[in-house]
Amino acid sequence: MPHATPPAEPRLVRSPAELAGLRASLGRVALVPTMGALHTGHRRLIAAARSRPSVDTVVVSVFVNPLQFGPSEDFERYPRDLETDLAACREEGVGVVFAPGVSDMYAGNDATREHMVRVDAGPMGDVLEGEFRPGFFDGVLTVVLKLFNIVRPDVAVFGQKDAQQLALVRRMVRDLSLPVAIVGVPTVRDPDGLATSSRNAYLGDAERRSALALSRALLAGADASVTGRPGILSAARAVLDKARTADPPVAVDYLALVEPDTFTEVPSDHRGAAVLAVAARVGQTRLIDNVWLTL
Ligand code: AMP
Repeated sequence: MPHATPPAEPRLVRSPAELAGLRASLGRVALVPTMGALHTGHRRLIAAARSRPSVDTVVVSVFVNPLQFGPSEDFERYPRDLETDLAACREEGVGVVFAPGVSDMYAGNDATREHMVRVDAGPMGDVLEGEFRPGFFDGVLTVVLKLFNIVRPDVAVFGQKDAQQLALVRRMVRDLSLPVAIVGVPTVRDPDGLATSSRNAYLGDAERRSALALSRALLAGADASVTGRPGILSAARAVLDKARTADPPVAVDYLALVEPDTFTEVPSDHRGAAVLAVAARVGQTRLIDNVWLTL
């Protein structure tokens, strides 16, 4: 029996200078930006990157970006496991894993970062996730732009799981005339409906059971989509209201039905595409999820 050739080891690149030296040999590049702790959602993005026509090399970046974490958020305890990530990338046929250190990405240190020039996400960066995480999207877009400048991808792949982030990346590419094509990939879920996320690793069994209220609420909203905005929101809210008193409880930050391009609330007579988005905390863990609907 012929043996399948074992997948080649991805090349681990630690610095922008090393990536620059390598870039000409990579051909057409598809970039998948991640914060590591790779799961099936990330793998789906990598598979989508590989399947793009005329892509020669998939580059996965692994970087927990301090610029997008608030002072009381989980930057320090965010899961990091580069060895396991490299193994996942090998299985997925990734050519290069770009895993810089903080000092490779941000010259100087925290003291100088407050003076840093950064991307302003505009009004769309102030609503929903942006309201609860001030400065978050400025930090995300700044690191994404830096990654684009370092890797110079032809294509970059993002998940619809972070729908507001995907919409803002598309907007940045358009507004700042960046020469890269953006591909969005539908949300990957575990069999019980929970959207896969690196932060799910924080959840204990009971917390995970409570967390299922997010996807259940979105499903209830989607099932009510023929009833228009009020029916969608009340169906989803009914599920979340029950989850507020679950053990452990689900504390909702927001539930909103928004325009996909601006993330502003849709009017009650809205027709066409909309995103039903939810964010909630279960114990110490903050989770987000969304579904696309047609009204
Ligand atoms: P993260 O490592 O959480 O920053 O995510 C890196 C990329 O993976 C982002 O584009 C996310 O939207 C995407 N992603 C994370 N979880 C999922 C998921 N469950 N389904 C699809 N894409 C995802």
